[in-house]
Amino acid sequence: MKTPIYLDYSATTPCDPRVVQRMLPFFADTFGNAASRSHAFGWTAEAAVEQARGEVAALIGAHPKEIIWTSGSTEANNLAIKGVAEMYRQKGNHLITAVTEHKAVLDPMKHLESQGFEVTWLPVDKLGHVDLDQLEAAITDRTILVSLMTANNEVGTLHPIHEIGALCKRKGTLFHSDATQAAGRFPLDVEAQHVDLLSLSAHKMYGPKGVGCLYVRRKNPRVRLVAQMDGGGHERGMRSGTLNVPGIVGMGEAARLAKAEMVRELPLLAALRDRLEARLLAALPDAVRNGDPAARLPHLANVSFPYVEGESLIMGIKELAVSSGSACTSASLEPSYVLKSLGLGDELAHSSIRFSLGRFTSEAEVDFATDRVVQEVKRLRSMSPLWEMVQEGIDLTQVRWTAH
Ligand SMILES: *Cc1c(COP(=O)(O)O)cnc(C)c1O
Repeated sequence: MKTPIYLDYSATTPCDPRVVQRMLPFFADTFGNAASRSHAFGWTAEAAVEQARGEVAALIGAHPKEIIWTSGSTEANNLAIKGVAEMYRQKGNHLITAVTEHKAVLDPMKHLESQGFEVTWLPVDKLGHVDLDQLEAAITDRTILVSLMTANNEVGTLHPIHEIGALCKRKGTLFHSDATQAAGRFPLDVEAQHVDLLSLSAHKMYGPKGVGCLYVRRKNPRVRLVAQMDGGGHERGMRSGTLNVPGIVGMGEAARLAKAEMVRELPLLAALRDRLEARLLAALPDAVRNGDPAARLPHLANVSFPYVEGESLIMGIKELAVSSGSACTSASLEPSYVLKSLGLGDELAHSSIRFSLGRFTSEAEVDFATDRVVQEVKRLRSMSPLWEMVQEGIDLTQVRWTAH
């Protein structure tokens, strides 16, 4: 088996070889600028871009004209949130989101707060869900946008976006969802789910890095945005800049494959994920699963290993590429804000590992990975005085620690 084994598909996915094949001609042979209207180089590029637009639209039940290409989900989220806020400022200055969103939603919201907008930060329960009554109560006639992710990137919890969408529609407020993790792993349908704006990123769905899109609803209601990038007026004036044609072609192919293979792929992923969890929990009965065990993405398991420090664990399992429950956004080891929002203490958050599986994960890899984790957790515990005390029946919460 080739190591390290990649179990970090929620951080990024490899390009599917079929995606790479589709992209290759667009680097050198068919290199035209999709905005060149006066010659065949431009027309060919434009045709490829429009085909990809159709493929991405089909994945989410949208019309191709509703797809605005961006550099990824970070840009799509910024465009949705800041673009709506600026456009609808006359109507109101209130936005709603949740504390477990990705930084690419939280930070634009914080930026708006600094500009005088009002943001409601909804808390979540221990499974990662917002309270829908609380959401409804928070919506006022000054509310211009609700932004709640389709699925969480750290624990995989799925928000009931169809209910949230219906609620927002009834209340007359726009609904944006960051569906970066959900694309290809959960059926998306912007009509049935009443989504007005939706962010996607190619590199989380077996496409290339640096390309993504924002779905912007064209009717019932027609959503308008203030562009965050001024220039040539590309993309219905919502996002200027020469299009990344190879990337867009890759994203289109990735979307086409996701749609075609989802039905077959999802149960396989869920079975591998369940196998991984079952093997860990059988060998380490005090390990804790995080997130909603039912309403969640099929490919992701987030597990805490009490009395083991997550970073030491990760250092000890160099053959595995996984993520820890600590923030990777800073040099310091902050415990994950998502896990803390779910009610985990610093200790448990620090001792958590996110395993995210994907299209190229095998059963043998899952078995190897779980064996290695179990072995390493046991080794670390055998050296841990805390673990020894727990084994002796000492309740650690009652211990009075004294400094020498
Ligand atoms: C990865 C990710 C993003 C950022 O996407 P980029 O395309 O890398 O900018 C945003 N939201 C979620 C939920 C993600 O998982």
